[in-house]
Amino acid sequence: MKYLALVGVYEQLEGTTKRLEKTFYLSEFLKTVPPEEIDTVMLLVQGRVFPDWDERKIGMAARLLLKSINIASGVDTAEIEKEWKKTGDLGQTAENIIGKKKQATLFTSELTVAKVFANLQKQAIIEGTGTVNKKVKLIAELLTSAKPKEAKYIIRTVLEYLRVGLGAGTMRDAITWAFFGKDMEFKYDQAENKLEVQDREKYNSYIDAVQEAIDIANDFAIVAKKATKGLQGLKELSLEPGKPVKVMLYQKAKNLSEAFETVGKPAAFEYKYDGFRLQIHKKNKKIWLFTRRLDDVTKQFPDVVKFVEENVAGDSFIIDSEAAGYDSSTAKYTAFQNISQRIRRKYDIATMAKKFPVELDVFDVIYYNGENLIKKPFSERRKIVEHIVTPVELKIKPAVQLITEDETTAEAFYQKSLEAGNEGVMVKNLGGVYKPGSRVGYGVKLKPTMDTLEVVIVGAEYGEGKRSAWLASFIVAIRDPDTDELLEIGRVGTGIKEKAEEGVSFGQLTEMLKPLIIKEEGKIVWVKPSIVIEVDYEEIQASPTYKSGYALRFPRFVKLREDRGVGEISTLEEIEMLYDMQRGRG
Ligand code: AMP
Repeated sequence: MKYLALVGVYEQLEGTTKRLEKTFYLSEFLKTVPPEEIDTVMLLVQGRVFPDWDERKIGMAARLLLKSINIASGVDTAEIEKEWKKTGDLGQTAENIIGKKKQATLFTSELTVAKVFANLQKQAIIEGTGTVNKKVKLIAELLTSAKPKEAKYIIRTVLEYLRVGLGAGTMRDAITWAFFGKDMEFKYDQAENKLEVQDREKYNSYIDAVQEAIDIANDFAIVAKKATKGLQGLKELSLEPGKPVKVMLYQKAKNLSEAFETVGKPAAFEYKYDGFRLQIHKKNKKIWLFTRRLDDVTKQFPDVVKFVEENVAGDSFIIDSEAAGYDSSTAKYTAFQNISQRIRRKYDIATMAKKFPVELDVFDVIYYNGENLIKKPFSERRKIVEHIVTPVELKIKPAVQLITEDETTAEAFYQKSLEAGNEGVMVKNLGGVYKPGSRVGYGVKLKPTMDTLEVVIVGAEYGEGKRSAWLASFIVAIRDPDTDELLEIGRVGTGIKEKAEEGVSFGQLTEMLKPLIIKEEGKIVWVKPSIVIEVDYEEIQASPTYKSGYALRFPRFVKLREDRGVGEISTLEEIEMLYDMQRGRG
């Protein structure tokens, strides 16, 4: 299949903000893709060459891409840079430069999806000496054959900055329309942007079947490929230890009665440990640890691997847990910040494990000895947890739990949890299924403090005076869950330290952000959204200044959230809810 065909869809997707229209474009396109290329195309459509659960990333610095454009076009790097300053978008720059250069000449060969995919993947995988040069050449080779528009999307893909606004829901619906459309009688009226469905129940059953497959496989490409073989194809997918699954998320409850209202009575109350989430897999005697952003952190936590080896029974399983830090001299829980350093740490692992020990609190199981437990009620899954986890003090245990329908008993348990140094309690529906990646009402969290927000840094500005060498003010964004678009909500400059010993410093953040820069405008830089931080604020205000429509009053940096990815930051819906709650209070 020609790459140009894919570029056509990118353009269509970018040209509309309407979700149904995006679904329509993508599904019509998917119908034209040969089945053997469906998975490759599905990855590229998301700007990826590896599936969601795979840790490997495309990642190449913008500076290096200048060199690739230079090789392919023969245009001076300085001139390319000048154009880049003008457009502010390296993809657009590549399109302009390649366009000028090639006006009169014939293109050497036509790019195929397979060729683009192969070079991008090779570029991401190669290691060792001379790697940088090889990477530059692999991209240059593509650009040499690329038509101007193709060059634009190749560059954007390498920068991991595709921006065609495809949310997870749109992708699911597009797969459903493309491969089950003929079975479910519906019509999309593009002029009116309206969807007419004959039989809603039937339509929803197909959507649900595709969603279920996505939950299990955590990979749109594989799901699309299986969908070409119908419902039977989707059924071939199964959970597989070693391949991380998106974790289930929990809604917020304002108070105890709201918690009961959402999850029903009786409910399971559990301590809400203030650590970080670990999804733990075992198969063939091998153990894997994944964070909630699905990064493999097995190497960083040999202590946890050992607890699991020794105290969790079973040949194969996937369990869900919280790793909570404690102070070894007092045996009291400690702040998340201490243990979170261990997540990124690549050396002195043993020392770190001693200095910042963790206790593993297991609260769920979704796969056990070959059986998928996702659809089993929570009460049954919890029984399995209790059955397979042997509690060992300060090492591993099932999360402390109490089942009750009585508000007074629940309140006392909540207080007890807080006194023990926890963040609050989780309240869970006993019959709830496990819903990967979703914030359904099967469980809610209840905590006493006004909630902080998790936001991603999208840009930053260099400071003044003695801070001029540092990025000192950070432009942060939340997420629109429908389109996955990032929406700015404010600028954060307080709460960050001058010196590293006292917490997170400007110097540290600057070093982290520099390799992510994709655009510079005077003192402002724009970065690839990747670094997630937690912020505190006085109030959420409605504001036309930022794209989200809201602004944070007096935002303050609280901590780095190494355990979170861009997919898990606060959403527009949450902001709207918090904004309404605030007004209700006032
Ligand atoms: P939050 O991060 O505020 O959205 O709260 C949800 C997080 O609390 C989960 O992702 C877990 O990492 C953590 N957590 C701590 N204890 C529990 C528990 N008993 N059950 C579920 N999640 C828990």
